[in-house]
Amino acid sequence: MTTVDVMTVRVRFPPSPTGHLHVGGARTALFNWFFVRKHQGVFVLRIEDTDRDRSNSEHSAAILESLEWLGIDWDEGPYFQSDGVERHRKEVRHLLEKGLAYRDFGDPERLINDRVNAKTDGTEKREPRRQAELISREESEKKALAGEPHAIRFKVPEGQTLWSDLVHGEMKFENADIEDLVILRSDGSPTYNFAVASDDAYQTITHVIRGDDHLSNTAKQILIYDAMGWTKPFFGHVPMILGGDGKRLSKRHGATSIQAYKEDGILQPALINFLALLGWSPGEDLEFMKVDELIDKFSLERVLKKGSIFDLKKLEWLSGKHFDSTSAEEIATLLSPRLNLAGLATEDELSSKNDWYLALIDLLKTRSRTVIDLVELSKPFLKKEIDFEEEAIRKHWMKDQDRARRILVELNAVLGEADWQADELESRIRLFASDKGLKLGQVIHPLRVAVTGREASPSIFEVLYLLGRTCVLERIGIAIDYLESSAGEGEL
Ligand code: GLU
Repeated sequence: MTTVDVMTVRVRFPPSPTGHLHVGGARTALFNWFFVRKHQGVFVLRIEDTDRDRSNSEHSAAILESLEWLGIDWDEGPYFQSDGVERHRKEVRHLLEKGLAYRDFGDPERLINDRVNAKTDGTEKREPRRQAELISREESEKKALAGEPHAIRFKVPEGQTLWSDLVHGEMKFENADIEDLVILRSDGSPTYNFAVASDDAYQTITHVIRGDDHLSNTAKQILIYDAMGWTKPFFGHVPMILGGDGKRLSKRHGATSIQAYKEDGILQPALINFLALLGWSPGEDLEFMKVDELIDKFSLERVLKKGSIFDLKKLEWLSGKHFDSTSAEEIATLLSPRLNLAGLATEDELSSKNDWYLALIDLLKTRSRTVIDLVELSKPFLKKEIDFEEEAIRKHWMKDQDRARRILVELNAVLGEADWQADELESRIRLFASDKGLKLGQVIHPLRVAVTGREASPSIFEVLYLLGRTCVLERIGIAIDYLESSAGEGEL
C-alpha cells in the first residue's frame, strides 16, 4: 500500500513574501501540484509572512501572479501565517507549561538576532546546556512577570530523530547535534520552525514536499510535532537546483525569477516542462511533455536525490518544441500585445487581417523559441521600410553585384505576371533558375535579401506569398535601385 491510498492528500506551498517567485520555489510548487493533481488531493497556499521586516504585500501579489501564470492553482488559501500567531503563542505556552520548552533571558538583542536560520545546512552543533535552562521554574516565572525580555527555546530531548523520507529514504539525526532552538522570539514572534510545523499540523497537511536544504529543519520540526502530540505528515525533500558550475543556482547564473522568463517570452508550457525535469525524470529519455502528461507520469519515487543543473540551452530547446506544437491562435494572444508595444501593428490592425496574421505565425513559429523571437521575425512583414543586414548584402548582393541586379530585374518581370500562390511562385522561380542555368540558391538568396533584408528566412515562396505582390515588387524595385549604381550589362 502506498502512502496515498488511504487518505486525501493535502500538500502545501508556503512561500515567504520577501521577493519574487524564483525558479527553485516554482519547481517545488510544481512538484507539489503534480503530486496533488495526480492523487486528486488538495493544494493549500500559505503565505509565510511572519518576518514583518522583509515581507510585503507587493511580493505576495507578485508570487500569486507568477503561480497563476504557471497555471499552478490552489484549492485552499492563500492563508497568511501571521493570522495564526496567537495560536502559535498558545502552543508555545503549552510547551512551556509541560516543561518541554524554557525561557532564555540572555541578551535580548542577541536573541532577536539569533533567529535560527530557516535553511541551515545541518552543521550547527548543540551548544552546552544553556544557563537559562538551569534556573528554577519559579525564578523563570518571576522574571517573566517582571517583564524581563526573553526568548523561548525548545528543549531538544536526548536520542535520535528518524523519518522515512519519500525521496531520500531512511533519515537519521542525532539530537545531540540539534541545538535548543528558539521557537518564540523575545518580540513575541514565532520562528520559522515552530510556525511551519504548527501550520502544517493545523492545516492537516499530509505530505510536506520541499527543497532538501530543509532536511535539518525537518528533524527539528519532527521533534516539535512529537512534543505537541501532532500527527506527522510524510516528508519528501527534492534536490537543489544548481547552476552550470555545480553551485546552488543564484542570480549569478542569470535570471532566476519566473517573471523574467515570462517577460522574455518563454511559453508557459515550456517553462513547466523544463521545471519538471529539474530533479525528476519519467525515464525512457522522454523530455518533451505537456502538462497533462507530466501530471500523469509524475511520481515522487522518480525524484532524484542529487541536485540537477539548470541548463538554459535546454529551456530554449524545449521552448522551441512547445512553439511548434502550440496553435497560431494561442500564440497570437501572446504576440499581439507585444507587436503593439513594439510599434509594429495595433491589435485592431492585426485582427482586421486575422487569416493572414495566423498564417504568418504558422510560418514563423517553427523558427522561434520565444515570443520575442517572433516579434523580431515578424518585422519584415509588418514594417514598411526594410532593415538590411550588412552581412546579407555583402554575401548575396555585393559578391557579384551585377548578377544580383540582373536577376532581380528579370525576377521582377516573372513575378509581375505570376498567379500569387506559394506553389505557383515556387514553380515559376524554379523554372526561371533552370532556364538561366542558375542554381536555385543563386536566385533565391538575392531575392530573399531584397524582400526581407535578411540572410535567413522561412521558405522564400511562403514569404513572398505572405508579403503580397505589391510589397514584393516594390521591394525588388528598391533593391534594383540600390544595385544600379555600379552594375554592368550582359547576359545572366
Ligand atoms: N516559507 C519557507 C520558505 O519559503 C517554507 C519552507 C517550507 O516549505 O517549509 O522557505
